[in-house]
Parts: sequence; structure tokens; C-alpha cells
Amino acid sequence: MANSFDQQKALSLIRQAIHHDGQFAPLHEPRFSGRENDYLKDCIDTGWVSSVGSYVDRFEKDMATYCDVPYAIAVMNGTAALHVCLLLAGVKPGDEILIPTLTFIATANAVHYCGATPHFCDSDTSSLGINAEKLETHLNDIAEIRGDTCYNRQTGNPIRVLMPMHCFGHPSDLDALLDVANRWHIALVEDAAESLGSLYKGKPTGQHGLLSAVSFNGNKIITTGGGGIILTRDEGLAKRAKHLTTTAKQPHPYEFYHDEVGFNYRMPNLNAALGVAQLEQLDGFLAAKKHLADAYHEAFRGFGGGYIFGDADYAQSNNWLIALILDTSDLKTRNRFLEMSNAAGVMTRPVWKLMHHLKVYADCPAMDLSKAEDLEGRIINLPSSVKHGIQHDT
Ligand SMILES: *Cc1c(COP(=O)(O)O)cnc(C)c1O
Repeated sequence: MANSFDQQKALSLIRQAIHHDGQFAPLHEPRFSGRENDYLKDCIDTGWVSSVGSYVDRFEKDMATYCDVPYAIAVMNGTAALHVCLLLAGVKPGDEILIPTLTFIATANAVHYCGATPHFCDSDTSSLGINAEKLETHLNDIAEIRGDTCYNRQTGNPIRVLMPMHCFGHPSDLDALLDVANRWHIALVEDAAESLGSLYKGKPTGQHGLLSAVSFNGNKIITTGGGGIILTRDEGLAKRAKHLTTTAKQPHPYEFYHDEVGFNYRMPNLNAALGVAQLEQLDGFLAAKKHLADAYHEAFRGFGGGYIFGDADYAQSNNWLIALILDTSDLKTRNRFLEMSNAAGVMTRPVWKLMHHLKVYADCPAMDLSKAEDLEGRIINLPSSVKHGIQHDT
């Protein structure tokens, strides 16, 4: 049998790549090796711990600069950022939003919070993101443009937004997706939750859509404890984003006048202080993670049974989570390896259960999802912490 999966061999190659010392190897551990303590102490010493403070402004400014966009609005988590991005893109109850089925549930939940319905898209095996060509074919089959709005002819609902997700940090093919979105009068919003520091054709992800959302959850490449940010190039949208996420209160020295139903989605100053310190270290984290990804590629070269997922030619991933792609999509093989490696102290994880397989999203509209279904059984995430990429360098 060609390319059968030798799980003992795979485990030993992982151990080789991370220089496993026998201690438990987590999937992705945060790293606090910068000025985190100084900045947090500063918040406490000055009393500015909550939803207003200089670190919030500084973090927004630093993130905008890093991602090469004019505006960044910090919020309390990535899901809240996605929710507000969709509202600002004009999503209304009953709309359909094109998202990958291969994603973390936050992508679908943000759609649901707007009263809209996810419309699931299949995966592109060279990016793990939405397959643009297949999306185009699907829209030709089921959609039409009336006025300047795209409608699903089968459900009668508007298809308002295309929201690609840069899976594990690997950029989706944004130009191809933008081309489809533009021709069909659909807005593009990036779920860039996992891809801070990733480049698409040399430019940071998060600047290609109308709006983008980044997450700073504890397991992401940098963390604010919990947090997220909205990125945009549009000044009007940026102002609306700040307004909506701060209870829609009109500025006034003492009056409380709220001109619409807003959200208390602000990022507290404490979290922003952590974020400023983390962002100062991001280039170092990226270098370490590149080193780790290279070590994995080297270790698995010539391994029959699977390969380490690498960048498409247009992409430079932040290597947030390293993925081993098995040759077989047999779930038993995958699960046996997950059992074995976790028991051996090397943390591995399957990819998320596909959104259309979850009971809550099973009845949503979808295109053929055969590539994602095939990938589901083949993806295994491997230990990807920054520390694994730097510990043997010095
Ligand atoms: C992490 C993540 C989010 C947002 O998560 P929060 O925990 O709310 O910050 C959204 N989408 C994807 C794909 C993610 O991985």
C-alpha cells in the first residue's frame, strides 16, 4: 500500500522539528518577553484600566501602521469585530453571506448575529481558503443581479457579503475573490482573525476588503488576553465603527445621548497595553515561526503519508498554526494519530468540524463542498508556539 501513514514516524518527525524535550508541547502558547509588565503596571498606577485610555489609542495607531491601513478600531474580541464589520458592510436580516465551511465558528456566528444566513463555500486546496473559481461557477448557477444587488434565485435573498478567512494564517487568493465579488456587486470583508503579519502579494492581509477583522485571543499570534480590531481604509466606516462599538453615544461633556442601538464592544485599556507590548514583538515572533515552519518542512521532506502545508506562490503566511496534511482522508487514521500524539505529550488538533455539519448551520445554503469535506479528515495542526522556533537559535 503506497503512502500508508506511519504514525510513530510522524510523531518522531514532529519531535525533531520542535526539538522536543519531553515536556508537554502545547499547540500555541502565548509569549510575554517584552514590555508587558511595564505597560500593565502603568495602567494600574495611573488608574486607566478600563474602556478609555492612552493604550487603546496607541494600539489602534500601531496596528493601523503595521497593517498599512489608515484606520483601526479596537474591540473586545475578534467575533465582535466581525459582527460590526458585517453591520457596517450593510448586512440586514435575511441576507446571505458567503463564508467558507472550513472555518472557526465565529465566522458563521457573526453572520447569525446580524440575522443573516451563512452561505457556505468550498475550499481551495492551495490556500485552504474559499475557492474563487468554484464560487464563480456557483454564482453563475444560482445567482442573478437585480438593480445593483446580487440575489440568490433559489431563496430570493440578497447575497450581500463575501467573507474569506485566511486559514491558519495562509492568505486566501484575495485578487481572485475580489474579482468575483466586484463583478457580482458583493462587498468583501476579510476574516483576518488568524493572519496578522501574513502577506498577500507582499501586502498585509486585512487591507484588501471594505473592512477586516483581526483577533487577539490567547491562542492567536499576538494576544491582548481577549481582543479584536476592525481595519478599514474608509474614514466614514471607521467613524461608524468607533461609534457603534462605544454604545453610539454622541460626544458631550455630560449628556447621555445615544443616537442608535450601539454595542459596548470597547477594548479595555489593560488589554490594549498588553497588545502594544505584544505588537512590538510581532516581527520577532514571525521570524521564529518561519524558522519553525522551515524545520517542519525539512523534517517531513520525503515522509510518505502526508506533507506540511506551505504557502501558495502569492502568499507569505505568518505560520500561525502549522498543518500536516495527511494523504488519506480516513477519519480513523487521523483520530488514531490524535490519540497517540496527545497521549505522548505532543498536542495536536483536528481542524474545526465543518460549519455545514453542525446542527445549528446544517440547513444553510451551500455550494458543493467536496474539497472541504475531503480536507476535514486530512488536516492535523501541530505544535506551533513561538518558543519552538527560537529555543535552539541562541
Ligand atoms: C479566533 C477567530 C475569530 C475570532 O475569535 P475571538 O476569540 O472572538 O477573538 C474569528 N474567526 C476565526 C477564523 C478565528 O480563528
